[in-house]
Amino acid sequence: MDVQPDATLFLQKKIRPTANRLLIWQKIQAFDYAFGLADLQDALPQLDKSTLFRTLMLFVGHQLLHAVDDGSNSQKFCVCHCFEGHHHESHVHLTCRICQKTYCLRMQQIPVVSLPEGFYVEEVSYVVKGVCPHCRKKITKLSAY
Ligand SMILES: [Zn+2]
Ligand SMILES: [Zn+2]
Ligand SMILES: [Zn+2]
Repeated sequence: MDVQPDATLFLQKKIRPTANRLLIWQKIQAFDYAFGLADLQDALPQLDKSTLFRTLMLFVGHQLLHAVDDGSNSQKFCVCHCFEGHHHESHVHLTCRICQKTYCLRMQQIPVVSLPEGFYVEEVSYVVKGVCPHCRKKITKLSAY
């Protein structure tokens, strides 16, 4: 029997490690950008959309994923790499205007904003608009001509 670190993680997060969930989690970890439901459907065409969606919501609810609002109309998700207890102070994201992908800038924490008396933070999102390194390379090549 293989050692399954993912199953152990699930149990820590109080998620029952079913075969589908483990499969979905594996695919999710292969994304190097914040993905949407459509990306996951492309990666796992054998699973139906509602299963994928319910699993995503479960992962968000148990803090395995962050729901990312990048200002586009589609909800994006990224893998949580937070330290214990810091889930709500997430990292900064960058949306590339050329490929439309949203990247996790994991080393960049969202700056703490102090609020006036009486306000309470539930969620913070911080999205930088710009160009990703892949697209920048392409642009530089093109402009060389
Ligand atoms: Zn987190
Ligand atoms: Zn790009
Ligand atoms: Zn992220």
